[in-house]
Amino acid sequence: KSSILKLESVKKYYPIKGGLLKRVQGHVKAVEDVSLEMFEGESLGVVGESGCGKSTLGRTVLGLEPVTEGKVIFREQELQHLSERNRLPFKRQMQMIFQDPYASLNPRQRIGDALEEVFIMHTKLSSKSRKEKVTELLKEVGLKEEHYDRYPHEFSGGQRQRIGIARAIALNPSVVICDEAVSALDVSVQAQVLKLLKTLQSKYGLTYLFISHDLGVVRYFCDRVMVMYLGNTAELATAKQLYENPLHPYTKALLSSIPRPSIERNRKRIRLEGEIPNPANPPSGCTFHTRCPVASEICKQKKPVWRDMGDQHYVACHHVEKGREVL
Ligand code: SF4
Ligand code: MG
Repeated sequence: KSSILKLESVKKYYPIKGGLLKRVQGHVKAVEDVSLEMFEGESLGVVGESGCGKSTLGRTVLGLEPVTEGKVIFREQELQHLSERNRLPFKRQMQMIFQDPYASLNPRQRIGDALEEVFIMHTKLSSKSRKEKVTELLKEVGLKEEHYDRYPHEFSGGQRQRIGIARAIALNPSVVICDEAVSALDVSVQAQVLKLLKTLQSKYGLTYLFISHDLGVVRYFCDRVMVMYLGNTAELATAKQLYENPLHPYTKALLSSIPRPSIERNRKRIRLEGEIPNPANPPSGCTFHTRCPVASEICKQKKPVWRDMGDQHYVACHHVEKGREVL
């Protein structure tokens, strides 16, 4: 498979300003160091507790936020230094689906008009072809032509998410970032929307960056999964590898916390001590050392680097072997 999107040591820091003069007093390290390569047509899950930087990562990839350091490369083209104008053609290529599409819809605007706006802004299509496009889009996402004239409040949560999807795919993007895209929906509706996303993926060869705190959904939906903790990547593997053979202590803890039948039943429950540390003042060395059951002295001093475990499995931990024995 060919590479479509590459992140090289991406960092995203937010300045903390304080005092009368609003001087910068420090930084929240939302994304500390993420390197990643995505392949055309895959679904890559990004998981981790809230505040681990996964949403920030999505927004940075999309260019909604400038990177502090590092590279975002889309098909050989570095995006991070492009001006707003030069970024435009790439913006069409990468779209986002949010958790709550209602928040981004104007309550007084008919859905058809909201969708048509995308074509007004980005294409030179005539009014007639725009309307045809919108009708096509509505059908594509499982809605009906007569929904054109309805207002956002007339739709259910699942239908609104379909509208969000319609808007995201309107301009034929290559990459779609789903940020908790089904998290607000009931389980049965979730399944339908996920199925729609899969159908669209195989029809248009879409690549998904699927950000979610729901490990069950990610397992079902994604080909590969990346685990983040406090702005850092802890582990990256195929979904099968990650769920059946997790290597990072944090991944093990995350997985052990979901009640599941079958293979995870005999997995030991790992309780993490303490809270997630403040990202403005992250722990030294491995940022997970304050909560890790197998941490040692070196973990406090040295940040672990990616270890290639073979079979597309990567892990950032000093004590993979020890973790295997103990956890
Ligand atoms: Fe735990 Fe050390 Fe591995 Fe970090 S590097 S996950 S603290 S064992
Ligand atoms: Mg989030």
